[in-house]
Amino acid sequence: MIVDYHTHSLASDGALSPSELLSRARASGVSKFAITDHDTTAGYLSVKDSDDARAVGLISGVELSCKWATASIHVVGLGFDALAPEMQAMIKTLTAARRARASKIASRLEKAGIAGAYDGAMALAGDSQIGRPHFAAWMVEAGAVGSVTEAFDKYLGAGKPGDVKMFWPSLAEVVSGITASGGIAVLAHPLKYRLTGMKLRALLNDFKASGGRAIEILNGRQTDVDSKRLLQLMESTDLIPSVGSDFHREFEYGPRLGIDVGRLPKGRYIWEALEAVL
Ligand code: AMP
Ligand code: MN
Ligand code: MN
Ligand code: MN
Repeated sequence: MIVDYHTHSLASDGALSPSELLSRARASGVSKFAITDHDTTAGYLSVKDSDDARAVGLISGVELSCKWATASIHVVGLGFDALAPEMQAMIKTLTAARRARASKIASRLEKAGIAGAYDGAMALAGDSQIGRPHFAAWMVEAGAVGSVTEAFDKYLGAGKPGDVKMFWPSLAEVVSGITASGGIAVLAHPLKYRLTGMKLRALLNDFKASGGRAIEILNGRQTDVDSKRLLQLMESTDLIPSVGSDFHREFEYGPRLGIDVGRLPKGRYIWEALEAVL
């Protein structure tokens, strides 16, 4: 069985349209799938009733931004009612937060000598949920940097001027929003926040206390060391394991769409827990 519970489309910062993403998933033999765009369900809603959606076993999904202590955290929501008022309200809040944040990022970039970023990034984003990748793409286009990597390293990444997180709701709020909408909250890529072991355990405790139920033990391309660490972390909690490629676009060193569950350690996974809520 091939599954994927973490992917992005053009509705946020992915390169493929939602329907292109589904047809690629179908061609890869995926039978359980979620489109988890940053702070929007527009991509999912636009394809949920298609033939390909049925073929790949599409369920609702989203990757919500929030803050916990001083860190920006991502929580994936799965199997919720996309039209639930709590989910709609959350997405409305986050859409406004992303616009306010974009304006703050642009003013910080201006102070760093790069003018016109707001209009540039918003134009590139178009109808997509605006994010730092649109700023990075515009900076490359405008010649301010040589590559997207350079844009993140110098201006947008953790600790740089464009790393603005003051507009995000709290972890507890987004987890509650997902749960109230009938879904399961999954802590995305726990090792990407660069927290100490102690802080990471505190994050897991708070996540669980807020109603969080699962964690990603596999996200994108991951080293064996990281997988071991996540499995150990999971065993010390009673969180359910989830897996996803975090696919954004095709590139040589990037993750492929779809995860063959045959290569995962034995256990009870997210798809079993989802059966109870779907
Ligand atoms: P945002 O959602 O606006 O905070 O932007 C975060 C997104 O930027 C992530 O989901 C990744 O898709 C992308 N990203 C983060 N760091 C990098 C990086 N160093 N290089 C390229 N893309 C990145
Ligand atoms: Mn992204
Ligand atoms: Mn993420
Ligand atoms: Mn993601």
